[in-house]
Amino acid sequence: MRKKLLLVEDNTELLELLRLGLKHAGYAVYTAADGLEALRKARSVKPDVIVLDLVLPELDDFAPSGDGRSALARAKDWLGTECPQCGGAAERETDAVERAKWLNFVVIGGGPTGVELAGTLAEIARHTLSNEFRHINTRNAQIHLIEAGPRVLPSMPEPLSKSAQRQLEKLGVELHLGRPVTGVDDDGVMLEGERLSSHTVLWAAGVAASPLGRMLGVECDRAGRVEVEPDLSIAGHPEVFVVGDLATVTQDGKPVPGVAPAAKQMGTYVARALADRLAGRKTKPFRYHDYGNLATIGRMAAVVDLRGFHLAGVLAWWFWLVAHVFFLIGFRNRLIVLINWAWSYWTYQRHARIIFGRRSRT
Ligand SMILES: Cc1cc2nc3c(=O)[nH]c(=O)nc-3n(C[C@H](O)[C@H](O)[C@H](O)COP(=O)(O)OP(=O)(O)OC[C@H]3O[C@@H](n4cnc5c(N)ncnc54)[C@H](O)[C@@H]3O)c2cc1C
Repeated sequence: MRKKLLLVEDNTELLELLRLGLKHAGYAVYTAADGLEALRKARSVKPDVIVLDLVLPELDDFAPSGDGRSALARAKDWLGTECPQCGGAAERETDAVERAKWLNFVVIGGGPTGVELAGTLAEIARHTLSNEFRHINTRNAQIHLIEAGPRVLPSMPEPLSKSAQRQLEKLGVELHLGRPVTGVDDDGVMLEGERLSSHTVLWAAGVAASPLGRMLGVECDRAGRVEVEPDLSIAGHPEVFVVGDLATVTQDGKPVPGVAPAAKQMGTYVARALADRLAGRKTKPFRYHDYGNLATIGRMAAVVDLRGFHLAGVLAWWFWLVAHVFFLIGFRNRLIVLINWAWSYWTYQRHARIIFGRRSRT
């Protein structure tokens, strides 16, 4: 299938020249002269690649300067919220040190989110984007995963952490274990006594609870989660319940994890507790049932912990895939997700790639 290319250029002569050349080179070419038209076409055509005029350095010589760019600028703002720009920035950077900073990615936090993020970034750099640029080789990108504790996936049994570490290293992720981050600035992160230079630092070391919790004026933990009674109500306020990520619940001496199944179970519990109260029945304290933990690391790479039954690598990845599709609602959704995943898997491609940037850095 021919790649769909959307060219956005307000110089109509240049646009026509590019259209003919790229059509001849085998692309299905769509054009837009301004940002609004680009938005309309991007939505209807769903191109594989969108080229905004400024991305190609040699086009700068032709691109008209001055007025008439506001629509395009708006398009860039809109598109910019949805696309990674690091590759484009590295492509335009001529200074080797600065270029390396654009190709260094730092993920802070080795929980499931950090592990999945680092693995995915490594695959995007090594495969998905590897043929997209002329001046940089994204295979040289360095992905650093920093974890303050001694191992990744601390909530999983140790053998699975070790397996995840091996799978990440196989993907080329550099692990920094037992290294708390002491500072983050424009140039990267500081570990104790060491700096990792990077323009892209991704925080995966936990979330703060909604400020709503503190507004209640009740006891909250460090992350702002509300401490609740065994029936998930607030002390002294049996009529107020707090559930999901906003609640901190301790069970058998350990905190109930902030994951979707726990939030769903709390919601179901409170609904039943209310029904019990209305019927005059006594309610048992909330209990979280942990049916297992899964973390995907990359293609055919994952770890699964099902109450002591462990899987790692290819089998774990298949389990992860089936479990996620199974929990989707409706056959149509399952089928669409499966087709999309299969397409991404075999082609290494995402639906669209948008690369653009400023003409000069200020
Ligand atoms: C990056 C990331 C990856 C994750 N991956 C997984 C995973 O793979 N598996 C898993 O099980 N869990 C995962 N989680 C955790 C999971 O998303 C949460 O545990 C779950 O969403 C909690 O559900 P909740 O309803 O308590 O909160 P949320 O899903 O956060 O819903 C809270 C809602 O309340 C709204 N809200 C907030 N404040 C107000 C207000 N003042 N007024 C009105 N509305 C308000 C918010 O906009 C939001 O829609 C992940 C979390 C993150 C951040």
